[in-house]
Amino acid sequence: MALDPDKYGTLDKLNQLTESHGELRFGTGMITGVIALSLAILCFLGVLAFHFPAYLTTPELRKSYSVDTLRTVMLVAMVLSGGMSLALIILGRARWLASAAFLLVALTALLGGHKVPVNDFADNTPYIGLDWFILDLLGSTLIFIFIEKLFQHRKQAVFRPEWQTDFHHFIVNHLLVGFILLIVNKLVHGGFSWAINDSLQTWIRALPFWAELLLIILVADLFQYWTHRAYHEVPVLWRLHAIHHSAKSMDWLAGSRQHVLELILTRTLVLAPIFVLGFSKEVIDAYIIIVGFQAVFNHANVSVRLGPLSYIIVTPNFHHWHHSQDKEALDRNYSAHFAFLDYLFGTAVKADRKWPEQYGVLGDYVPNGFLKQQAFPFTWDATATPPPPPPDVSSSKT
Ligand SMILES: [Zn+2]
Ligand SMILES: [Zn+2]
Repeated sequence: MALDPDKYGTLDKLNQLTESHGELRFGTGMITGVIALSLAILCFLGVLAFHFPAYLTTPELRKSYSVDTLRTVMLVAMVLSGGMSLALIILGRARWLASAAFLLVALTALLGGHKVPVNDFADNTPYIGLDWFILDLLGSTLIFIFIEKLFQHRKQAVFRPEWQTDFHHFIVNHLLVGFILLIVNKLVHGGFSWAINDSLQTWIRALPFWAELLLIILVADLFQYWTHRAYHEVPVLWRLHAIHHSAKSMDWLAGSRQHVLELILTRTLVLAPIFVLGFSKEVIDAYIIIVGFQAVFNHANVSVRLGPLSYIIVTPNFHHWHHSQDKEALDRNYSAHFAFLDYLFGTAVKADRKWPEQYGVLGDYVPNGFLKQQAFPFTWDATATPPPPPPDVSSSKT
């Protein structure tokens, strides 16, 4: 990521920057500039969310945060972004990037910044989850980039190849959160209410917290395991799931790469038993935090050595094999929480190496790019590319 400062206008250079990938070089102002611009963009989106909360924030999420805390976070981000960009402008480093960040922070301040009053508003409007996008992006980058730098498995730039595609998936999955929740809720309630058994629900709610929590994770992972295995073994489902496997670089962001229909289908089939069994609210909340963390963490570019516990708990070391093109790992390691499920059902990877060599779909037939990937399941001519063979070790997919 080295750009000639004199050759292009600021917008061209910003465009070029978002289309490029690679290591940001130290000492050029690029790292500070990219952080300043990212914060400035989030502040700008934040001020829009303050102005139009009914349409740009998530009702389920609004209940769990305090607007005053968010105002403080926004003020800190504005000061940091403004300060960093001003320093770069004075020092004459990455001025084009710094000016863009500074202008955006100034615009945010003009629009009211962290002080925009939030009045009462209707609760049942259609919305996009802009607040969920801003907060999750901020939290995830802070946590996972830190963890990945600290326990890095392979040397890899933050902006590695195809980061744009995964980020595009991340953006859309977050903005559509309300739409996805609505559909999943309708499918779960409409399709599975018949299976509810009151005495079973009472028994489950009487369990101690930890027992109920272990049970919910076990139930969720059992359903996740068989759903996931079906995605690999049923050709029409593989069309959807191939998108998730097309990531050739693994990191926390790669976990976002998923077809929207797969997201809805998997979530419905995993939440259905949780709804039917009637787990208590605290346990469901704890499960959502665990699954939210582990779904991202399992893809992260880190090595976690748990010794014998690695036969029980899924780590990135375990899930990375699931994404590999190596023959011995095809259609293996389906679990998301409990690795012992794969040992139990005979699908755990047996390899003499610690890590796979190459990630992605064997044959590399999935196109790059968010929209092309959403269209892929419906447009893929399986006869033109190697058809998905039965799930054994000679299979041509991962
Ligand atoms: Zn898979
Ligand atoms: Zn995965």
